[in-house]
Amino acid sequence: MNILNRTHLKTQNGIPYFENPELKKIGWITHAFLTRQGGLSLPPYGSLNVSLSNGDEQKRVSSNRERIAETFGFDPNQLVLLKQMQLDGILIIKDPVQMKPNPLLYDAMITDIPNQYLGILTADCIPILVVDQKKKVISAIHAGRQGSALGITKKSIRKMKEEWDCSEKDLLITLGPSIGPCCYEVDEKVFLKEWERFAIPRGVGKWMLDLAKINLAQLKEEGIKDEQIFHIDLCTRCHSDLFFSYRGEGQTGRQLSFIGILKLTILNN
Ligand SMILES: [Zn+2]
Repeated sequence: MNILNRTHLKTQNGIPYFENPELKKIGWITHAFLTRQGGLSLPPYGSLNVSLSNGDEQKRVSSNRERIAETFGFDPNQLVLLKQMQLDGILIIKDPVQMKPNPLLYDAMITDIPNQYLGILTADCIPILVVDQKKKVISAIHAGRQGSALGITKKSIRKMKEEWDCSEKDLLITLGPSIGPCCYEVDEKVFLKEWERFAIPRGVGKWMLDLAKINLAQLKEEGIKDEQIFHIDLCTRCHSDLFFSYRGEGQTGRQLSFIGILKLTILNN
């Protein structure tokens, strides 16, 4: 596995972000894992909060979204955001999404359509971006504890195989920052027996859970090799200067991770 850390932090237009250098090399993709820095929201949403459903002011969130879109060269209306449910619903986008009044009740998206920027909002859960380099299909996954228990990552990879005939050997996967096993204590009410290999016991009926490991195991089950996987291995709670953390702060913002296929324009003279 390829590990990325704080030394990989970049800044563009005053907005810090992480990127996977291997994805960057693919000319037809734009992606980034944003942090909490570089926006206009005030505490406790300071400052690059992208969520409208946590109590932040709408105009500040809209400005934050516009700033991000401008920095990475897309229209804010092309950013597809879900009403993330902590479940395993996967949205398949085969036609350009019309902005609907209804919220999109899903936790993952897959598309091969250009100019659809798939965005995942997190504050401890793992955002996962997937690219099929051959079939030109992309996916964005929101994997929290419940989604991970339901196998959202494995199911998303399977959907790519079913719907687009993707081959596991052509996939590049990037796991974004999430709460680490250093900070993520869970109790017996939510702990699953099969997670013992992904957790360290901490007293009676308590464990420190490694969300990334649960999702890495799902990728391995689908035949994906270590060298195809990149992990921005930073705990959102430990690195509270860079990231929102629900466990750390409760009322707080959500950082955006996104990926999109560039529309290549051919000039006819
Ligand atoms: Zn930590």
